[in-house]
Amino acid sequence: MSKADRASRDQAVESLYAKETAALRLAEGALTRQQLSDVVYEPFRDVIKNYRRLLRQTMKVTAVSDATQLQLRRTSRELADALAKVETLNAELRALQEEKDELFAMAIHDLKSPLSGICGLAQLISDSALSESTEHREMGADIYHLGGDMLAMVADLVDLYRFESAPLTLASAEYSLAGFRDIISGTLGGIARRKRMALVFKIEPADATVVINEEAFVRIANNLVSNALKYAPQGSPVTVTLSVEDGEFRLSVADQGPGISPADQKKLFRKFARLSARPTGGESSSGLGLAIVKRLVDTMKGRVWCESELGLGTTFHVALPAG
Ligand code: ADP
Repeated sequence: MSKADRASRDQAVESLYAKETAALRLAEGALTRQQLSDVVYEPFRDVIKNYRRLLRQTMKVTAVSDATQLQLRRTSRELADALAKVETLNAELRALQEEKDELFAMAIHDLKSPLSGICGLAQLISDSALSESTEHREMGADIYHLGGDMLAMVADLVDLYRFESAPLTLASAEYSLAGFRDIISGTLGGIARRKRMALVFKIEPADATVVINEEAFVRIANNLVSNALKYAPQGSPVTVTLSVEDGEFRLSVADQGPGISPADQKKLFRKFARLSARPTGGESSSGLGLAIVKRLVDTMKGRVWCESELGLGTTFHVALPAG
């Protein structure tokens, strides 16, 4: 309301007050002139008194509400200013964060070539024809394996930063579950054999097809099965189940490892989450695998969660739309 509007409204209230007060005086006078009995007059006088009080209060309330409105306007202006400042700061922070991520991603990416070179040379050293002693060959093999772990970690880091810097697009196509067992056994069968762990597959129905992004799904499965092989005791079995039910495609990976405490379960899918369970066969751990799994599952509009009890093992479940 403008200043002029407020002044004219105040004037209107004042003149109404004056008119009503005059009317009340007249009524009072008339009542007194009529020499009415106290029985009739008293209640009327009370009514007049109350009406006057009401009028006075109305005027006060009007004034108070004006002051409150003024204060509210001032406060909301201050809030809007503060919000604008926060938004500017946020935009600056975002720009800095993007610049830092880009530099970081470039640095990680540049590690790939020298690391691949180190691995290649280590393989040469471990080659029996070129090395003089068994010790040298063993050291060469160790360097080769450690370099391989580092390369895998670098690849995970590059992927995570790539996923975060641009929205992922994962095209879906028909995927037959029949080939799943061979794919996982091909990549992880060697590790399972080395740790004397049986990989048990339950694929129901075995000849089912689903519509998903195969590369992303195989990567999710590889991560979960390799974790089960990494954290469960040597010699224990790992069960991998695939099922299709009610339009949902489900992967479950169950192990007989140490289990994951409720506190650790809350941190599982964060980047660099290396938690209480430690590898049981000297494998490396970066805390990136489950962060990648979560990112892929979210992009595929699915869910990932785990059921676990300390000392009794863990089952990771992934549910994806089947097509
Ligand atoms: P990484 O295995 O490289 O450390 P992940 O993101 O895959 O990274 O796992 C994060 C952490 O979660 C691991 O360090 C481990 O402590 C815990 N974890 C993952 N899978 C299991 C499992 N099957 N049983 C027990 N702990 C697990």
